[in-house]
Amino acid sequence: MPQVTKYVFVTGGVASSLGKGIISASLAKLLQSRGYSVAIQKLDPYINVDPGTLNPYEHGECYVTNDGAETDLDLGHYERFISIPTSQFNNVTTGKIYQSVISKERHGDYLGKTVQVIPHITDEIKRRIKLLGTKHKLDVVITEIGGTVGDIESLPYIEAVRQLRWEMGPRNSAFIHLTLVPFLSASGELKTKPTQHSVKELLENGIQPDVLVLRTEKSLSEDIRRKVALFCNVEPEAVVESIDVKTIYEVPLLMLKEKLDLTILRKLNLPASEPRLDDWIHFVNKVKNPSQKVKIGLVGKYVQLPDAYKSIIESFVHAGAANDCKVELELIQSEDIHVDNVEQKLGHLKGILVAPGFGHRGIEGKVLSVKYARENRVPFLGICLGMQCAVIEYARNVLGLTDANSTEMVRNTPHPVIDLMEAQKGITDMGGTMRLGAYPCVISKNTKAYQAYHKTEISERHRHRYEFNNRYLEQFREAGMHPAGVNPDTNLVEIMELSDHPWFVGVQFHPEYSSTVLTPHPLFVDFVKAAINFSK
Ligand code: GLN
Repeated sequence: MPQVTKYVFVTGGVASSLGKGIISASLAKLLQSRGYSVAIQKLDPYINVDPGTLNPYEHGECYVTNDGAETDLDLGHYERFISIPTSQFNNVTTGKIYQSVISKERHGDYLGKTVQVIPHITDEIKRRIKLLGTKHKLDVVITEIGGTVGDIESLPYIEAVRQLRWEMGPRNSAFIHLTLVPFLSASGELKTKPTQHSVKELLENGIQPDVLVLRTEKSLSEDIRRKVALFCNVEPEAVVESIDVKTIYEVPLLMLKEKLDLTILRKLNLPASEPRLDDWIHFVNKVKNPSQKVKIGLVGKYVQLPDAYKSIIESFVHAGAANDCKVELELIQSEDIHVDNVEQKLGHLKGILVAPGFGHRGIEGKVLSVKYARENRVPFLGICLGMQCAVIEYARNVLGLTDANSTEMVRNTPHPVIDLMEAQKGITDMGGTMRLGAYPCVISKNTKAYQAYHKTEISERHRHRYEFNNRYLEQFREAGMHPAGVNPDTNLVEIMELSDHPWFVGVQFHPEYSSTVLTPHPLFVDFVKAAINFSK
């Protein structure tokens, strides 16, 4: 094992959304399978301190770490691939960098000096990059640089990693550049010119990539590989094809075939033992060849952009494989669900998930969906706002509290069954002030939750301001909706279940953040199982 932490930097060119996150996670998986300790981090060039205040339409899901950082959704991929929890140190934004440089400046740390992008901003970037490796004494840290080479806002990051390579000396770092090789159907050709230009752009900034990963719809011929190698100044075996595949979980196996990991290990002067990927291969086979299908609906309001529900969607892939079943997930716009069409919208589903969310838009469609699931005994999973909707629905339609609501939706509702936490009441700053990160929960036996987890003490991640209002707890319990899980320190309700229903579970936390390929989340696994049973 290496004496020092080695670094792999991943940049992207030609177009955005080429899948740098998946390539980074796949390489990490392969290095891990060969016995190395690895971590992946993401550098995001935007000025928000974190994506917590961004609309999901802008940036997809906001992923939450155990220590309560609101981060980029790529961190979710990192965890799902290598099953190692991330933390605030795995995501750096320009906002965070400037925030700490400016607060040092105010403190007087640079007294007498002009504070500049180079060296002060680049130094702070370098410090953050190295923090992760030294903190955990890792063998390899893979650093994904968000954005596309040539963007104005990426420049300080590119300069920082150029300096790092120079400082670390040869064989301690490697650069991967991911580009697109478009296929022009008119001429029937794959085009390498955009890749050549993109590498030129990197070279102008002082970086010669070691490895090129080329995203393509069609297989690359030997000729094309040789051409790219020659014009971009890389070894022919360092030109890696990344062809479109059915499932992202196949990408590590594809990269193994392309020897991406071996090339990187050679560049880093590290030995290669045999990879151990049996579990992974087994999982991919299950995903690709399921023996049954089940249709589950996800009722939410950000359905135009599935990335807004990334972790939930992936959790169903994991839980599906665990049940040897393909989950056909249908995303349903909650605003479109009304009393007169609820049967038509939901009638064909074998399970209903009501999604997390914020604000009142679409809320009544969610409440109707809960009612449908409850009355028709359709397996139901409510997550965060989804659980809150289940509580509101029960209060209105079973307890007879007709105007029950969350104070998030109607501030002075007569029956605030979901209410702002006491600690949230004085808060005026919106950034990073929700109840965030992992909290303990104690589960009661004889509940669906206990059947799923097989234990009474769990810890799950949160991201919300509102809670079940314990003033109503007895009324709910007497009527048949009971708290199956409670926070042992605060008595806040974490899980609500219906006793008289085949599978009806609402959770205030976010189980989707901690489902991984090799450890599918027990609640998702049991929810899918219940949906399969329901379909029989
Ligand atoms: N808007 C709700 C709250 O803040 C639920 C949040 C969520 O679903 N993540 O409590």
